[in-house]
Amino acid sequence: MRIVHYPHPTLRHVSKPIKRVDAELRRIVRQMFDLMYEARGIGLAANQVDLPLRLFVINLAAEPTEGDEMVFINPVLNLPKGSDDAEEGCLSIPGIYGHVVRPARVKVSAYSLTGQEIQADLDGLLARAVQHELDHLDGVLFPDRMSMTSRADLQPALDEFESEFRFRRETGDIPSDDLIRQRLAEWETRYCV
Ligand code: ZN
Repeated sequence: MRIVHYPHPTLRHVSKPIKRVDAELRRIVRQMFDLMYEARGIGLAANQVDLPLRLFVINLAAEPTEGDEMVFINPVLNLPKGSDDAEEGCLSIPGIYGHVVRPARVKVSAYSLTGQEIQADLDGLLARAVQHELDHLDGVLFPDRMSMTSRADLQPALDEFESEFRFRRETGDIPSDDLIRQRLAEWETRYCV
């Protein structure tokens, strides 16, 4: 398992709800936390490790021995309130940061790995992280949410990611769109509704 970078097609995949949790899915979640810590991030969505599963993990402390490890399966957001402007980054576009305006508070409903329903009113960094990760599950990346002018500043850096992607595809490091789609469909047959 590895973190895929912009513009990998799986980052644009809209994931379908998960219908079952088994030992392999628990192992996947563990690996996602480990990769996230390695990359010094606070959140990671399944699309970012090339999986079409509707789940993400968060630990605001970014350290395995600190903070809370939170897993959100089939998350839904409700009752967005207020507005907050802050800088975001993303493990799939490393080294790039930009200002994104989002609701300051949201209510999240989701399931835990043990199948318990989670409901929480979120604010601050956790509200932002959950919204950023949920966007991933719908194929949305933070630059999509930026104003036209600030996004234009990022364009040269995004262009570099695109040429790196083309190069890695030519060298066979990244499979064709067809192969990626086929693999995602196989995972969906196993885990999704
Ligand atoms: Zn991200």
